[in-house]
Amino acid sequence: MTENAATTDRVGITATVPIEVLYAAGRRPLDLNNVFIEGPSGDDIHVAESAGFPVNCCAWIKGLYGAARRLGIREVVGVAQGDCSNTHALMEIWADERLRIYDFEYPYPPSPSDLDAELQRFCVAWGTSRRRAEEVKRELDEVRAVLRRIDDLTWQTGQVSGQENHLWLIGASDFGGDPPAYGRRARDFAAEAARRPPRDSRLRLGFLGIPPICQGLYELLEAARAPVVFNEFQRQFAMLPESHSLSEQYLQYTYPYGVAPRIADIRQEVSRRRIDGLIHYVQSFCFRHIQDRLIRQAAGVPVLTLEYDRPGPLDGRSRTRLEAFLEMLDLRRAQQTTDQA
Ligand code: SF4
Repeated sequence: MTENAATTDRVGITATVPIEVLYAAGRRPLDLNNVFIEGPSGDDIHVAESAGFPVNCCAWIKGLYGAARRLGIREVVGVAQGDCSNTHALMEIWADERLRIYDFEYPYPPSPSDLDAELQRFCVAWGTSRRRAEEVKRELDEVRAVLRRIDDLTWQTGQVSGQENHLWLIGASDFGGDPPAYGRRARDFAAEAARRPPRDSRLRLGFLGIPPICQGLYELLEAARAPVVFNEFQRQFAMLPESHSLSEQYLQYTYPYGVAPRIADIRQEVSRRRIDGLIHYVQSFCFRHIQDRLIRQAAGVPVLTLEYDRPGPLDGRSRTRLEAFLEMLDLRRAQQTTDQA
C-alpha cells in the first residue's frame, strides 16, 4: 500500500472485516494498520498524542488515528465486537471529529446464525447484496490460493523467508485496494520463489500475536538460520484456510473469538510445520498480553515473549534474549535426537 494511491474513495479499516462486502459495494478498503507501520509511524503517534491520546495507550491505536489524519480518511469501519475496547474509544473520537463510522460485530461466542445476520446487516449498510459479496469472495479465493502457495513455500521448502511471508499475508487484509493487481504480483512472486533453491535451517520458529512494531526481528532470525515458518495472525488476516461461504470464512478466523480457537490453531500448525519454538509478540498496554500465560501453557514447545511499545529497531536486550532462546532450542533439539537414538 502506498500513500500515493488515491485515498479519497478509500474506506479505512482498523482490523480485519469482511472486505468482500466493501468491494461488492464498489468501495476500496484501506487497512490503516499497514498505512501506519509503512509510513512515518513516529509522526503518526506524535499526532495522536498531541490530540490527547494518553502515553499509556497502545501505539497501534495512536498509529491508526495518526494515519487516518495524515491521509484525510473520512469513512472508517471499526470492529465493535471481537477486537478491543481501545478501538471503541478510537471510534468515539472519530465520530466526534465527524468521520463516518461503520461497525462490524463478530458474534461472541461464535455462532453461524448470528454471523450470518451480521453479514447481512453489513451488506445492507453498504448498499450491496449478499449474493454479490459471495461472488467477490470467490474472486478473492483465487488470490488466497496463491497466498497459500507462498505460505507453503515458506514452511515446506524454505524458499520464501519469514519476512516475505509476513508481508504477503498481511497485505491481504485489504489486497492493496486492487485485488487483481495484488494477485498478479503474488503470482509473479510465487513463481520467482519456486525457482529458488530449497533451504535447510538450524531451527524452525513460529511468530504469534499481532505483527511486531519493532524492526529487524525477521532479519536477525534469518541470519541465525532460524527462520519464521509460521506467522499466526498474518495467516489469519489473509484467511488462508479454504471455505465455501463468507460465514464459514469469518467463523474460521480465530482473532475475534478469544484465546481458545487461537490455541487450537497454534497447536495444529506447530505440529504440521515441525516448529521448534515460538516467539509471542505482545504490544505494550494490550489486553492480549494477559493471554500470554495460557498460550505458553498450551503451546507444546518453548515460547519467548517479546514486548514493545513504539516503532524502532530491536534493542540489545531483545537480541540477547533471542540468541539465548535459540541456544536453548539447539540444546533441546540435540537432547530430543539423543533420546530418539
Ligand atoms: S494491539 Fe491490542 S490494544 Fe492495541 S489495537 Fe491491537 S488489540 Fe487493541
